[in-house]
Amino acid sequence: MRRHLYSAEHETFRAAFREFLEHEAVPYVEDWESAGTLPREFWRKAGQAGYLGFEADPELGGLGITDFRYNAVIQEEVAASGIANDGFSLHNDIVTPYLLEFTNEEQRRRWLPGFTAGDTVTAIAMTEPQAGSDLAAVATSGRREGGAIVLNGSKTFITNGSIADLVIVLVRTGEDDGRGMTLVVVEEGTPGMTRGKPLKKAGRRGQDTAEIFFDDCAVPVENILGEPGRAFSLVKRNLARERLSIAVHAVESAHTGLQLALEHTAMRSTFGRPINRHQAVSHTLAEMHTAVQVARSHVDACVVELDEGRLTAEDAAGAKFWATDLEGTVLDQALQLFGGYGFMDEYEISRRWRDARVQRIYGGANEIMKDIVGRGLTR
Ligand SMILES: Cc1cc2nc3c(=O)[nH]c(=O)nc-3n(C[C@H](O)[C@H](O)[C@H](O)COP(=O)(O)OP(=O)(O)OC[C@H]3O[C@@H](n4cnc5c(N)ncnc54)[C@H](O)[C@@H]3O)c2cc1C
Repeated sequence: MRRHLYSAEHETFRAAFREFLEHEAVPYVEDWESAGTLPREFWRKAGQAGYLGFEADPELGGLGITDFRYNAVIQEEVAASGIANDGFSLHNDIVTPYLLEFTNEEQRRRWLPGFTAGDTVTAIAMTEPQAGSDLAAVATSGRREGGAIVLNGSKTFITNGSIADLVIVLVRTGEDDGRGMTLVVVEEGTPGMTRGKPLKKAGRRGQDTAEIFFDDCAVPVENILGEPGRAFSLVKRNLARERLSIAVHAVESAHTGLQLALEHTAMRSTFGRPINRHQAVSHTLAEMHTAVQVARSHVDACVVELDEGRLTAEDAAGAKFWATDLEGTVLDQALQLFGGYGFMDEYEISRRWRDARVQRIYGGANEIMKDIVGRGLTR
């Protein structure tokens, strides 16, 4: 089925980005999985090529492109390549709005040139050992002392956590009868911030995920993002975009799983014929194909809504849980069609299946997404 989301310019951009990944990422995935992280050189190459923070003004190193379809192209190509990377999504879809919309002029000049060049790797640290789905339980504290805000506590599961040069940290500062939270940017080298090694994970092993600790970590008040005490509303504003990015990735990931299954079932025979000639298998392929097409139409429509400033929190949450549940189902069906080979590491479907699992958990667990949609329907 033809798609109507993209123009010729988006497709040209896609071809260039695909080539970039084929040369600079795909050959190194196993090395990155062993290291548990990406080399800085990769970030720099991505920045030089214009693939990081391209929404920023050209004078800050960006391209001035504010069209989420370019972000979506990047997510689709990352998913199609199988590199299991969260870095582009983190930089472009999650962190960029914080650095563009909630910063003042001085902060933008200080942080954005490095961010767009790929010299500055970023992270956003909200989750804590006792506060994941329930972010209102965040306990890491931020105490004002003169010209500083002093952080104490710990964060976990932080993407890029072990190498990030700038970490946007959600801390409790206690305004509004203790409820107030603030976003503070902690720069690499600030005394009192330490990190764990990359955590060992079931999937996405080449993507750095780490713990970060704060022990009387004094950060200048000039590094506060937006209005102190109002972080929750800033975070909420950005979550729709983060969740849509996950949904876009999920649909392409499912689509690629289907392609792998189509190739394998055409090539492998049982009982004297290719597997895809058994009716039960062709029905499974038909279900996978149709599910991907339907999901794609819906997620494409959500991308248009976002670009037009109309994507609601409920629609983004719905797209996230629907697309990632579907991704899990389709990749599981694809793996099944590979039989025992599908369970072997050397088969691509095996890695794709385990790399996809986290999509139903991060960005807000799918159960929480259903809460958001349900609340919207019943309020
Ligand atoms: C690879 C990876 C990368 C991540 N990157 C980041 C990052 O960069 N920054 C960051 O801040 N965080 C990050 N996270 C954290 C992620 O957002 C959380 O793991 C997620 O929000 C779930 O929180 P939790 O793990 O504490 O699970 P919990 O909150 O303990 O929930 C566990 C499970 O319980 C169920 N559940 C919980 N509450 C409810 C409810 N109200 N109703 C029904 N079911 C419920 C859900 O099934 C949920 O998955 C990352 C996580 C992973 C695994």
